[in-house]
Amino acid sequence: MIIVMRPKTVQSEIEKIKRKMKSLGCEIHESKGQNYHLLGLVGDTSKIDPNQIQANRNVEKLIFVQEPYKKVNRLFHPEDTCISVNDRTIGGDGFSIIAGPCSVESEEQIVGIAKEIKEIGASFLRGGAYKPRTSPYSFQGLMDEGLDLLKTARRETGLPIVTELMSPYLIEKFVEDVDVIQIGARNMQNFDLLKEVGKTNKPILLKRGMSATIEELLMAAEYIMSEGNERIILCERGIRTFEKYTRNTLDISAIPIIKKLSHLPVIVDPSHAAGLWWLVEPLAKAAVAVGADGLMIEVHNDPANALCDGQQSIKPEKLRSLVSSIKDIAKLVGKEIK
Ligand code: PEP
Ligand code: MN
Repeated sequence: MIIVMRPKTVQSEIEKIKRKMKSLGCEIHESKGQNYHLLGLVGDTSKIDPNQIQANRNVEKLIFVQEPYKKVNRLFHPEDTCISVNDRTIGGDGFSIIAGPCSVESEEQIVGIAKEIKEIGASFLRGGAYKPRTSPYSFQGLMDEGLDLLKTARRETGLPIVTELMSPYLIEKFVEDVDVIQIGARNMQNFDLLKEVGKTNKPILLKRGMSATIEELLMAAEYIMSEGNERIILCERGIRTFEKYTRNTLDISAIPIIKKLSHLPVIVDPSHAAGLWWLVEPLAKAAVAVGADGLMIEVHNDPANALCDGQQSIKPEKLRSLVSSIKDIAKLVGKEIK
């Protein structure tokens, strides 16, 4: 339920309603804009009498929220949410490019790639240190050493780092070392992990599970938000369908749908969606055209010898042509690469 206050209601009256709602067992999610002041009620609203609220002269109207996700719901926060990370922002009229290898492999590799992608216009460096691999015999990432190498690359370039957290036991280390914590597709419904990252104040990049519906993705974000962390970036990375040609099927319609349903920024990972390097650029163009707030792209200096996902990784020079080919599309949808 959302209480829409009349414009210009004095704060003391708003506080009175908030106290009353809290005493009835609700948590309140407040959202203010230039012309609106909303009190979103979360939790058990069964003790609330809508007629009584509507009798309050400072209340414009009540909105009943049907969806199970509340805090991530656009009804709770009509304006787009922008997530600031160090001196950068994801969302709004900006378009962010997150690029880097699937896995951190060596200092030379990660620092070299970081310098190249920065010069091309990427604003974040990605790289896996702890890798969720299908086979226990595949390369699992350099782990702690990989995290240290990402920090070296950040020191050398100033690029904020994005890397995946797989287990709650590493959370303190990630909060200390990482700029954006990635929750991967395989952990999208790891509810304990979601609750733990929800207790931090770090930006969270939440990837859609490979067989998750849009509503399930939004409910995963709700888990994080319900613990207090509202700094969430959603990521469409393809879903599993009957089509075998690509690794996954990029659900391009998910972007405008999520934008309609939620205020959170949404980015697209065309690399894991396609699984094929030559499909990354056309899918990236489509992502920009449908209103995504950014891209996450796997870039490797030597894809043929990459320890993970070489077949879908593009070389830095290909990233350069991709970035130049999406600039005009971004402008057409009112965005600018930042
Ligand atoms: C990744 O981004 O490194 C990754 C493993 O992606 P996903 O979780 O989408 O499979
Ligand atoms: Mn990968």
